[in-house]
Amino acid sequence: MADTEKIAFIDRDGTLIWEPLDEQVDQLSKVSLMPGVFPALFRLREAGYQFVMITNQDGLGTDSFPEEEFRRVQDFVLELFASQGITFRDIFICPHFKNDRCKCRKPLPGHIGNFLDQVAMDRENSVVIGDRETDLEFAQNIGIPGYRIADSDGQRWDDIVREVVDKPRRSNVTRKTRETEISVQVDLDRETRLRSQRVSAFLITCGADRQARWILIVDLVSGRPRS
Ligand SMILES: [Mg+2]
Ligand SMILES: [Zn+2]
Repeated sequence: MADTEKIAFIDRDGTLIWEPLDEQVDQLSKVSLMPGVFPALFRLREAGYQFVMITNQDGLGTDSFPEEEFRRVQDFVLELFASQGITFRDIFICPHFKNDRCKCRKPLPGHIGNFLDQVAMDRENSVVIGDRETDLEFAQNIGIPGYRIADSDGQRWDDIVREVVDKPRRSNVTRKTRETEISVQVDLDRETRLRSQRVSAFLITCGADRQARWILIVDLVSGRPRS
């Protein structure tokens, strides 16, 4: 396994930088970094990851999204990341519209067929990080884990990097009643870290899709939840 490479395939809009409401980053004034992105990429880099950007840019090169507008933003973003030592070993862009039925649009793996032929990818540790369901489908299509940046209070860069780099040990307890199923997931490493502060944290996930999540902090002395 020594000569396999850990790759992080990273989406651009909504993941590295915010995606505007019109879903097109065609002016520098629309460029704004996602929270926590730099510390997260530093940790991934330290953990030996190489970065590959993979992005769908609908209609790039057409009148609705001229090449120059894209290029100005893309060059700025790449320079910004490079100034902090974050570089992308490859960049894959799908310029098509969904209706074009091309093969290079995520979630299809079309773009990276050659890449995967040339790189001995560490499939166990390589990851896809993006903000859409199609990013997760793309991960599935190339057979590696996918992580989704949530747009509001959900999973963020620091959560994702913690999962990817620290690989926290987890323990699951599931309780079923007639009406509901509650699953409590205890992050054992986080609990250990917090125990010195006399509190324990439980990540609670609910529902068939595990989408509803809360963090419950319990004071170990009183046994009561902390507000
Ligand atoms: Mg995106
Ligand atoms: Zn395409």
